[in-house]
Amino acid sequence: MVKPFMPQLVYFEPKALDYPLGQELLKKFTDLGKEIRYTTSHNQVRNLPGENDFQRYRIAKSTLVVGIRKTLKFDTSKPSAEYAIPFATGCMGHCHYCYLQTTMGSKPYIRTYVNVEEILEAAENYMEERAPEITRFEASCTSDIVGIDHLTHTLKRAIEYFGQSDLGRLRFVTKFSHVDHLLDAKHNGRTRFRFSMNADYVIKYFEPGTSRLAERIEAAVKVAHAGYPLGFIIAPIYLFEGWKEGYRELFERLSRDLPDDTKQDITFELIQHRFTKPAKKVILKNYPMTKLELDEEKRRYKWGRYGIGKYIYPKEEESEMKETLFEYIHTYFPGSKIEYFT
Ligand code: SF4
Repeated sequence: MVKPFMPQLVYFEPKALDYPLGQELLKKFTDLGKEIRYTTSHNQVRNLPGENDFQRYRIAKSTLVVGIRKTLKFDTSKPSAEYAIPFATGCMGHCHYCYLQTTMGSKPYIRTYVNVEEILEAAENYMEERAPEITRFEASCTSDIVGIDHLTHTLKRAIEYFGQSDLGRLRFVTKFSHVDHLLDAKHNGRTRFRFSMNADYVIKYFEPGTSRLAERIEAAVKVAHAGYPLGFIIAPIYLFEGWKEGYRELFERLSRDLPDDTKQDITFELIQHRFTKPAKKVILKNYPMTKLELDEEKRRYKWGRYGIGKYIYPKEEESEMKETLFEYIHTYFPGSKIEYFT
């Protein structure tokens, strides 16, 4: 069982202590006997311990930086929402394929922002701009927010905020099962709680440091019982030997364990495995022993933004993957909705 995340080292921006959550976290980590350091900016944490890149990367992923989110301009977040809402950056998980490895570059430490009310105010402005349209906010674009929320309760605050909002909806996805403190949040059905699920094989070989499949399913059942709209992201869909059987087992288990009355409103998002050339380089540096197949010759090149194209599965394999997973979803979750396949 993967234990809830506990940082080994904690940095504070001094200004974070002007906020109640900053004070609360300082007390919490001091009481826990954690090593506390200070940094002028969460963007510039230097001198992390470790003798080489490999060690420093691992230490960074168990380092928490408590700071203030200065940029309150939100990124867009298609296709799952209108905007990304930034409560945290970085993740303690070690998924070999994770795109944060390339987007966060030299700063793989985890940042949490204590000016939560200011972030929510910015969200309110975005909602007003689009009124009377509903505006959806995605809280897991730059981190696995559930993975650190047992320490900060930021997400819980946001769930309750959107629970009171007529114009806003919140959504996020997680690979962690530490959801108990979120079960009594007053969500009013306005937060879609999604779990990232995958065939056992993918979780076992490529997602170290995250909750195992059985734990995620158990957490999804609790979340369903708490009345949240539920969703599953199947990502990355990865073709390993026996993948058809592996994915069938996943849907069978999900369908068997979830209460029938929660199956009608479930959403599925399907994302095939992809990588870019820069990502491949970083993956092989951070996880040199990975079994992840990253052979450009076996993939199809798709042009992307900023001239960085990605390698996805060839047309024929992509169609087979899509047909197979659509069939499983229609068989095991006939009332559900597939939001997209990409
Ligand atoms: Fe990346 Fe998500 Fe894995 Fe964290 S849990 S390392 S964000 S893929």
